Amino acid sequence: MSKKTPITVAHGDGIGPEIMEASLHIIQAAGAELDIETIEIGEKVYLRGNSAGIDPEAWESLRRTKVFYKAPITTPQGGGFKSLNVTARKRLGLYANIRPCVSYHPYVDTKHPKMNVVIVRENEEDLYAGMEYRLSPDVMECLKLISRPGCEKIVRFAFEYAKQNGRKKVTCFTKDNIMKMTDGLFHAVFDEIGTEYPEFEKEHWIVDIGAAKLADSPEAFDVIVMPNLYGDILSDVAAQIAGSVGLAGSANVGIHASMFEAIHGSAPRRAGQNLANPSGLLLGGVMMLVHIGQWEAAERVHNAWLRTIEEGIHTYDIFEGGISKQKVGTKEFAQAVAARMGLKPEKLAPVSYASAQGKRKEWTPTERKIDTQMIGVDLYIGSTGVTPQALGESIKQITHEGLVLKMIDNRGTIVYPGGMAETFLTDSYRCRFEAAGATVTHAQVSGIYQKMTAAGYDIVKTESLRTFDGKPGFTLAQGQ
Ligand code: NAD
Repeated sequence: MSKKTPITVAHGDGIGPEIMEASLHIIQAAGAELDIETIEIGEKVYLRGNSAGIDPEAWESLRRTKVFYKAPITTPQGGGFKSLNVTARKRLGLYANIRPCVSYHPYVDTKHPKMNVVIVRENEEDLYAGMEYRLSPDVMECLKLISRPGCEKIVRFAFEYAKQNGRKKVTCFTKDNIMKMTDGLFHAVFDEIGTEYPEFEKEHWIVDIGAAKLADSPEAFDVIVMPNLYGDILSDVAAQIAGSVGLAGSANVGIHASMFEAIHGSAPRRAGQNLANPSGLLLGGVMMLVHIGQWEAAERVHNAWLRTIEEGIHTYDIFEGGISKQKVGTKEFAQAVAARMGLKPEKLAPVSYASAQGKRKEWTPTERKIDTQMIGVDLYIGSTGVTPQALGESIKQITHEGLVLKMIDNRGTIVYPGGMAETFLTDSYRCRFEAAGATVTHAQVSGIYQKMTAAGYDIVKTESLRTFDGKPGFTLAQGQ
């Protein structure tokens, strides 16, 4: 007797319940062995006062089954409601977001008939930590955090995914010509880990030109791994240009748990009318079946679905006169796919998941001993109404046990010494103090802090300047 895999299912809001019912109908028709626990999430939970949109018992179910099959939900308008997706990703440690973007030419309209790209997006870090500050009346700040373990986990995942899914090339997108430390780390880790996978073609693109190339000739890419923000934007672009936002599923995978869903939302205007296309959620379900080791069922579902699509049995959203043969509702589409169980597509390429089995090589922590020294401090102050030159001349007088003013900048551009009149100034300045390359103590930093405040400067933020194994752990100002 085969053992059923426990999973947690949420039917969601809007079109959610209809497309979940349709997807489960197809998945069960394929013989998947699932033991389903159902939880309630989304609008109703938000509206009864839970700002996270999910109850504690639902978390318990997720922690028990570790597999979450989730229909889209509606986040109510107005403040105070937290994105359930972001919460689930971060609390369950779902560090990898995988989004296959495939065109189904000529059965679904697309400008890119040969597109078959998988975007692997880092899911926990980058600007999405939500750590923001207001430095002054005019200047807001958002912290971009990129960690070595974060990069190692996602890059390792991308190569392992490529290996298990018969891919040929792995590309990395970053903006490391500008963000040399954060994106620079992501790129460096890609190069390091890439050496363990000699079988793949590897390349790095600066994200702007890479994105342009992706939008113009997506067939030039295979698997693309990138930090959170670029991945968020470009996975939507990629799904859209494949012609199939309504057809794309996604997986969020972590060390302890995983979540599978459609990429689209709850489409409230289409709800309850048997109109919605269940394909995105169904293909998310295919990724779930592969993930839990039920690859034969995954293959049956996916091939029956491809067969239905190429036979022109389409929901309204992809129905195209001349190409489509039969316009169907959500339920009829599910029945059509279930009726084709065991069949393979004849024109589109059939899928095979036999190779996507076996354990992926997981990230393992590495012991590293790194020597760090403090060599200075940056003190952020507000505007004082004087010119940068006058500001610099006056702060230059403030010194403490060898700590002296090295430079002042405004939004990262040097304004003292040697500022340019053309540089636009906001009301937030950063004053950099160093002690001629010597190590600096906390007592010295607190001394200069006190002298600056005693002189009337309102310090809004401090940032210590450090070296790591002798290399600077900070960047120079532009123009420094
Ligand atoms: P949406 O994706 O729900 O809809 C965008 C457009 O695509 C609409 O015209 C809709 O009718 C159509 N569409 C989407 N899915 C479809 C499907 N399966 N079949 C046919 N047509 C489909 O985006 P939206 O309108 O911006 O958002 C609606 C709600 O969904 C909002 O409350 C939003 O917060 C939520 N949302 C949830 C998720 C999620 O739970 N993962 C993701 C995105 C948006």
